[in-house]
Amino acid sequence: MATTSKKFHTSFQTGQSEHFVQFCETDAFLIDSVSAFIGAGLRAGDVVIVLATKPHTESLEERLKGDGLEVAAARVRGQYVSMDAAATLSKFMVDGSPEPGRFAEVVGSMIALAAQGQRHVRIFGEMVALLWAEGNRAAAVRLEELWNDLGKTHSFSLCCAYPMQGFGGEVYKEEFTEICQQHSRVIPAESYTLLSSADERLRAITLLQQKANSLEAEIAERKGAEEQLRVSENRYRRLFEASKDGILMVDPRTGTITDANPFMTELLGYTREQLLGQELWRIGLFRDREANLEALRELREKYVLRYETVPLHTKDGQRRQVEFVSTLDQANGHSVIQCNLRDITERKRAEEALLHLAAIVESSDDAILGKNLEGIITSWNAAAERMYGYSAEEIVGQPVTLLFAPDRQDEFTQIMARIRRGERVDHYETVRVRKDGTRLTVSVTISPIKDSSGTIIGASAIARDITERKQLEAKFRRLFDSNLIGVFVADFAGTFLDANDAFLGVLGYTRAELLAGTMQRDALTPPEFHSLSQNAVKALQETGASGAYETEYLHKSGRRIPVLVAVTRIEQTETCMGFVLDISGRKELEKRKDEFISMASHELKTPLTSFKGFLGLLQRRLTTQGDEQALHYVARMDAQVNRLTKLVNELLDLSKMQTGQLDYREERFEVDALVQEIVENVQGTTQTHRLLLEGQIGAEVCGDRDRIGQVLINLLNNAIKYSPWADTVLVRVAKDQNKALVCVQDFGIGIAKEHQHKIFERFYQVTDPEEKTYPGLGIGLYISYQIVKRHGGRMWVESKKGEGAAFQFTLPLV
Ligand code: ADP
Repeated sequence: MATTSKKFHTSFQTGQSEHFVQFCETDAFLIDSVSAFIGAGLRAGDVVIVLATKPHTESLEERLKGDGLEVAAARVRGQYVSMDAAATLSKFMVDGSPEPGRFAEVVGSMIALAAQGQRHVRIFGEMVALLWAEGNRAAAVRLEELWNDLGKTHSFSLCCAYPMQGFGGEVYKEEFTEICQQHSRVIPAESYTLLSSADERLRAITLLQQKANSLEAEIAERKGAEEQLRVSENRYRRLFEASKDGILMVDPRTGTITDANPFMTELLGYTREQLLGQELWRIGLFRDREANLEALRELREKYVLRYETVPLHTKDGQRRQVEFVSTLDQANGHSVIQCNLRDITERKRAEEALLHLAAIVESSDDAILGKNLEGIITSWNAAAERMYGYSAEEIVGQPVTLLFAPDRQDEFTQIMARIRRGERVDHYETVRVRKDGTRLTVSVTISPIKDSSGTIIGASAIARDITERKQLEAKFRRLFDSNLIGVFVADFAGTFLDANDAFLGVLGYTRAELLAGTMQRDALTPPEFHSLSQNAVKALQETGASGAYETEYLHKSGRRIPVLVAVTRIEQTETCMGFVLDISGRKELEKRKDEFISMASHELKTPLTSFKGFLGLLQRRLTTQGDEQALHYVARMDAQVNRLTKLVNELLDLSKMQTGQLDYREERFEVDALVQEIVENVQGTTQTHRLLLEGQIGAEVCGDRDRIGQVLINLLNNAIKYSPWADTVLVRVAKDQNKALVCVQDFGIGIAKEHQHKIFERFYQVTDPEEKTYPGLGIGLYISYQIVKRHGGRMWVESKKGEGAAFQFTLPLV
């Protein structure tokens, strides 16, 4: 302590203005040092000004008092002045800088006042130290300059004190030097100042030099490290900026976003500014705040969070799938959360498409396999397994030639040569071998497989087992070539594309003419049959088959050829296959039969008429003679002749109908009266059945009264004939809109469904064993049907086998 006091004391002998700086490491040293400076001044009769902080002023005054100095008395005398450093500073600081004019005014006038009476002035100032501590170092340096300027006009000794720790660090190097330069003297801090011997001081200086060296080295090293850090930060920043992953930095304390890279903003559709400060759930990442907080909790526990697929909603409402990886790290003593988001929407879509495709391949009925360019099988679907008998495990990795028939091994080289050229092999029919050695015929399509760069890396083969089709084709071919029946293939428009010789023979054309496309359906069909063939095409399109129908074709010579045709569609094409039977022979026979019937019925009619006439004569004679026995026989003969006459009449009608010669009269008649008359007549001929008539319509129809009567007789006779165990037949007359409806219902054997539409055909009789016993020709219903049809009416039957039948017909009312 004594040493320092001495040092200060000796320093101020000159009486010149002096501005020195004292660096201190501790407050205690500062007080020691300054109290020596101030104390010496008071003792020497100098005026002392203390511009310090309150604590320093108090400690200083305490110390001065301790050193036996009368501070209070000195203050009264005006020898000791203390002012608060901050308050004084505020008097001349303008915009963070000491204003020279004001400084001169405030501080200059203070010194001038103190210096009155030629007294020396000592000042301890802490204003610069305050500015320095605030970080306003420029102002501190400037203030030192102003003090120096003031020193030029005023005489004083100024001691500035700086705490040494305020200069720790490389950045202060320049300013420190400057501060030192501003002072006429610099007093080092106590660790040096307190050393007394020159030897000790020399050693200390050497030590300091050594320390400085190592510090410089350390600083250089640190600078290098900082540079490296900067480089790595830059690199990271570039990665961050350029990353094709969205990156978000999140503050773990608040869970809010502190940074977002460009890709992130692009992905979400928000600007960076919109993202900053947001919680993740607000930008569409988590379902809600709860889920967001839960994720943060989990992250704090595990430090890493990874979600394979997270749904994300972008600002404009799009749904995207992202892979989310979040890490909690320590950086520079802070913890940070980094979230990486990878948009996997496209990848997911591609994966789904791939799965979809795989499912199609797997569910295909065709065998689908992949092979590389060496012919090694790389994939094998379920259909391939079924078709060839090898499981995927067995065959994948094996050469595809395993499936080739021994006599077809060379196909492999040919196929692969085409594949290498990028060509596709389409519907190639060949023979392959199953695991069990059996052969199968397949239709194969082989296509090259390319990688993403377009290089051919293998081939896919799709094979369909066509063994059955081939066998069918062979069978059909035999039928086609057998020429038992005419067969043709035609398109729906009516061009014959292919035909066998039998078909060509029927129409009188050559194969060359067929192939030239000259055979057209419409040209080969007489005009009145066109609508029939159009109906057939319609049925073909709707149901796939036309059903057999009779039509006529025109022979090349112009002759008409009656044919029976059936056409069926060839699946999945607009073509059909037709089967044609030449029925000219049958038609000719029918014609002759009709002619015979016509002739026979005519020939029979004349003798029958005279037979009937003579029977009448005989009857009258026998009645006169009263020969009952003979009359009885004649009556029975008459009944048989009537039956015969009826048959002959029917045959005659039939043949007239065939040739269109049946005459119809046109007259108006009452339906009710006709039905009643017929019912009464028929009732007169039967004792077994009661004919019950129901309903009246009071309306007339127009037509041939006898022929309609004939229809009703026919139906009634059938009803009686086919219900031998029943005793009733119902006849109903009703009106149905503008038609008369007549129904004859019996309770007899009935008609099975399959016969119902055929019984109106010529000569059709139901040929069930039990019906053999009913006599007839099977023409009555045909004639009745034609008569009704001719009158513009309809006839049909409703029946169930064993439950009777209800024959009905309608006639248009006038
Ligand atoms: P047929 O002279 O043989 O009776 P039809 O043309 O009158 O000829 O009748 C044709 C066929 O229809 C008959 O052979 C018979 O099998 C059947 N049929 C007609 N009417 C009836 C009916 N009422 N009940 C049952 N079957 C009937």
